[in-house]
Amino acid sequence: LTKYFSNAIQVIDHIEKHGYEAYFVGGCVRDLLLERQQGDIDIATSATPQEIQNLFKKVIPVGIEHGTVIVRYQGESFEVTTFRMDGNYSDKRHPDDVQFIKNIEGDLARRDFTINALAMNKFGDIIDPFGGKEDLQKRQLRTVGNGRDRFLEDPLRIIRAIRFSSQLGFTIENNTKEAIIDCRSNIKDLAVERVTNEMGKFFSGTYLENGLYYLKACAIQNYLPVFRHHPELIELLPKQMEPIETFGEVITLFHLLNRDISIQTWAKAWKCSNHVKNQAEHLRNSIQYYEKHGADKWFVYKTKPMYFNMIARLISILFDRKLDENKLHQLYRELPIHSRSELKINGTDIVAVHAAFPKGAWIERLLQTLEKAVVEGELENDKTILREWVTCNPPEIN
Ligand code: ATP
Ligand code: MG
Repeated sequence: LTKYFSNAIQVIDHIEKHGYEAYFVGGCVRDLLLERQQGDIDIATSATPQEIQNLFKKVIPVGIEHGTVIVRYQGESFEVTTFRMDGNYSDKRHPDDVQFIKNIEGDLARRDFTINALAMNKFGDIIDPFGGKEDLQKRQLRTVGNGRDRFLEDPLRIIRAIRFSSQLGFTIENNTKEAIIDCRSNIKDLAVERVTNEMGKFFSGTYLENGLYYLKACAIQNYLPVFRHHPELIELLPKQMEPIETFGEVITLFHLLNRDISIQTWAKAWKCSNHVKNQAEHLRNSIQYYEKHGADKWFVYKTKPMYFNMIARLISILFDRKLDENKLHQLYRELPIHSRSELKINGTDIVAVHAAFPKGAWIERLLQTLEKAVVEGELENDKTILREWVTCNPPEIN
């Protein structure tokens, strides 16, 4: 077992020393066997949350009612969940009741896909009651148990199937695919936030093209926010698609593919955070400027380097044009200033020069003109020069 698991092994060891069982479960086992980059480490145990709280100094009770706590150990966090069986998901959000159980096999049975229903002990031995290893080899997604039952129990599993097809590049086994098609109308009852979270991972999947193939083959777009009123949108994506890293980029992309649907509409329907919405608006503004003026100095100044990569991706998808990111970075480095605060003149200075004029929106307009002239190299960023320019350009007030 890799160094990656070393602290987690000690956590499992500690739980076992007190007479309970504990295993690695879910995504971390799957990704280890796939030699894929590791996400979080989840641990399943026969100990109750209360018992876990007694065993470790630092335990955060994040989801006691579902049997989950976070154990902090040597600066790392591990999600530790008591073996459980799920009751009904009558609100399509959370299981109505969870029942703690005694053995790992029962816990694995509640999980969505065979490749996610693997457990591993601290020695690296795999527990695989549902043929998950074989499905990993076949590179296929198959539900644990009857697909229809499992998808009706929690329709989010449909979205998760599509998400994993995009992340792992796996096929969806035929019965599972048929069950997805039979049960897909239940997607609309899900809490949108859960769908958004999975679809963010879908769009950033390494095998997005494979994911899009299954999304379309199962017509899942017809049951997703916004897309369900505009199912043609998904067809507007080019055949060759790179992964899209952030959800802000995703909604910018679809907004620009049909500008009648505003970013506000997307953000609201998908219940995006303000952060995501602001990012989308920033990206949209940059692309709109680019369409008119190209990738000039003002463009890189306003866009900011952390967005170059996203902008390049969007421009490639939207206009089938390659932006040279290195050139953007170089252009940015050569700018005389990188933010307005570096400008050698400010609002107070401007007011002092034109003391006779009443304060108003003209101050901001002048500042913007100066900022742009300095960025574009038309004016030197020198206090005397800037002040002289302001003196010669009295505000236009109308
Ligand atoms: P990732 O690497 O993206 O986190 P993951 O497989 O760990 O992938 P999570 O959403 O973190 O996915 O879920 C952890 C585990 O919990 C899954 O591997 C699966 O066994 C189980 N699981 C999660 N969501 C569901 C669900 N809706 N129904 C059944 N089992 C689920
Ligand atoms: Mg996980």
